[in-house]
Amino acid sequence: MKKIEELDLDSKKVIIRVDYNVPLNDKGEITDDNRIKESLKTINYCLDHNCKLILLSHLGKVKKEEDLKTKSLRVVAKRLSELLNKEVTFIPKTRGSEVENIISNMKEKDIVMLENTRFEDLDGKKESGNDPELAKYWASLGEVFINDAFGTCHRAHASNVGIASNMKEKALGFLVQKELDNLLPIINNPTHPFVVILGGAKISDKIETIKNLSQKADYILVGGAMAYTFLKAKGIETGKSLIDLESLEFAKEMLEKTNKIILPIDHVTNIDMENDNYKVKDNLDKEDIGLDIGPKTIELFKSYLKDSKTIFWNGPMGYYEKSIYQEGTKELCDFISKLDCFKVVGGGDTASCVINMGYKDKFTHVSTGGGASLELLEGKSLPGINL
Ligand code: AMP
Repeated sequence: MKKIEELDLDSKKVIIRVDYNVPLNDKGEITDDNRIKESLKTINYCLDHNCKLILLSHLGKVKKEEDLKTKSLRVVAKRLSELLNKEVTFIPKTRGSEVENIISNMKEKDIVMLENTRFEDLDGKKESGNDPELAKYWASLGEVFINDAFGTCHRAHASNVGIASNMKEKALGFLVQKELDNLLPIINNPTHPFVVILGGAKISDKIETIKNLSQKADYILVGGAMAYTFLKAKGIETGKSLIDLESLEFAKEMLEKTNKIILPIDHVTNIDMENDNYKVKDNLDKEDIGLDIGPKTIELFKSYLKDSKTIFWNGPMGYYEKSIYQEGTKELCDFISKLDCFKVVGGGDTASCVINMGYKDKFTHVSTGGGASLELLEGKSLPGINL
């Protein structure tokens, strides 16, 4: 796949697959617009080349009729327009005469955004199933295709792989390029000591990444609920902490195979996730739920991080949605922010934590793609990149 600079873009009608799958609160407001901001470089480059821009993105999963009300991209078009200080025409359709008429009347530097590509999923999963007729239709709307949606590069959908297979002129955008430039060195040639921090809840969707990283890294520091699956696998009491039962066997195998996995030695616990009377304990009792790493663990993890030359971090250290359980994530964030090394955050919840805590600029790279960055670190080639 070419780079965007290798394309002849002047005055062309360009379809950009962006990743505007942004988190929304109960009121439908955007709570983190990082993905929109990260798309501006490619958009501005195309505007400088007098292109007519057609933006496609998904937003969340669309499974039922009600999702049509809560997963519209209208709010995203408005935010993009504010960031660019320029009109962005939102078309509340994914295909049809309204789409075609507006696009055929576009002038140079005009921008249109179609409705959520996954609205097509209500009709037999046409977007997620890479329906050939839909892909061909979307491709017919423009002359050039740019894939700048890193967050969906691990999926072969109609709006990325499908469109690309119908276009001669296509390239990866600046955002995807930046992701590859910062993520590939982590698996290809990390500078040692290389320390991986893993957290969050589930292990099952990270198994291959953990296997691959365990061969490259010097240490894997495990926090979050994920740690309790490993602790249980060691036969340690984990009380009522969240356990990923289907991954217990894998956790046992990993612990037998490698001594690189470093687990918490104390915990912030409670007997009820929602009350505020937490305790700090070295060992959990039967009624306890481990909700954050404790102060001794924070110091232990810092001791592994302090001399590292490469750090990759995926997954919060605790139930960070409740502020009293953010301390572990916050302390590590603050500590890493002061280290002089190659430090990358692998998208998802951790990226939102780092950005919302104000540390984004202190990291070498904060990925916009959770699943995509993990699959890349499995050593896999992603369908959205090898177009
Ligand atoms: P994941 O999607 O697997 O990356 O997990 C992210 C989620 O894990 C976040 O919603 C966190 O609140 C949650 N989480 C992390 N640590 C814990 C914990 N100790 N107990 C419960 N939830 C946790």
